[in-house]
Amino acid sequence: MPINVLLVGVGKIARDQHIPVMAKDARFRLVGVVSTSGAAVDGAPTFATQRQAFAALPHIDAVANCTPPGPRRESAAEALAAGKHVLLEKPPTATISELRDLERQARASGRTLMTAWHAQHNESLDRARALLAGKPLASLNIQWKENVRVWHPGQEWVWDAGNFGVFDPGINALSALTKIAPAPLFLKAATLDYPANKQTPVAARLTFSSEGAARGASLVAEFDWLQEGAHVWRIDIAAEGGPALTLTFMLGEGGVTKLAIDGKPTFQNESTEYERIYDRFAQLIAAGESLVDAAPLELVADAFLVGARRTAPAFAW
Ligand code: NAP
Repeated sequence: MPINVLLVGVGKIARDQHIPVMAKDARFRLVGVVSTSGAAVDGAPTFATQRQAFAALPHIDAVANCTPPGPRRESAAEALAAGKHVLLEKPPTATISELRDLERQARASGRTLMTAWHAQHNESLDRARALLAGKPLASLNIQWKENVRVWHPGQEWVWDAGNFGVFDPGINALSALTKIAPAPLFLKAATLDYPANKQTPVAARLTFSSEGAARGASLVAEFDWLQEGAHVWRIDIAAEGGPALTLTFMLGEGGVTKLAIDGKPTFQNESTEYERIYDRFAQLIAAGESLVDAAPLELVADAFLVGARRTAPAFAW
């Protein structure tokens, strides 16, 4: 029997990835959508609220939540309380305490809760993680630079407090980092550039420390949401005594993730991140398990805790 899924929030990522990927995977069947704007999806009725959907379609097994993080906890808590499994788009919640509470609820209800950090679902990262395992870090340089006008055209919510700003894409880099890093990373300092007319940062520079890292190791990340020209999604990470790895990402449809070792192209995988997410979700449901990874969200929260604020020019679309 397929897993009957209710999709909540019919926006860009729902249409780009969740709906087509579910359509290809016989283990899932999209049975309805919840849309505040009344968006229609072929073959699945639209409901104004999740509660109405649960009442009309009692055979719903799982909810895929594709809203922005702000409204997500309430919706996910309601779904878990109704006995549904829940898949959370990234970032999973607006705050860490919300995620911890959902984790507790999933455990109590025996349902599956999965945080979908899509950038983690690349084989290049599995290889990088194995190459770095057990070795002290010597250096880290993350460059994550893209144009918000291209990737989030007109999505005004990205500038609302609680919706992450440049950390919306930056958390993808951090989710890749926390997957491959050989030891926990800690935020030591950050500068956060806020447009004069907005509530979330448009650029950030982060400095980390890591347990066991080489003395004086430079561990930094730079996020920029006003990149002109081609985007840059790149992680350079080296262990003491080698190897030095470079990961370059092209996320989304037709994308590819590449791994170079000591400057030599070594491996690449096509971007099948959402296929892998749904594969994992099916496996977790079958096993009666959850996958809740808070580490990328913790680093972002820590950046807001230690970050120094700077004022940048006002932003207009
Ligand atoms: P989006 O196009 O703005 O879609 C979000 C949808 O959520 C809206 O269309 C709306 O759908 C619904 N919604 C419910 N409450 C909302 C609220 N308070 N404010 C705004 N929308 C609300 O955004 P998106 O790009 O799909 O991003 C959604 C989530 O997916 C974000 O957390 C983002 O980080 C993540 N994500 C995005 C991408 C990407 O390429 N854009 C990639 C990976 C992950 P209804 O009108 O149907 O209610």
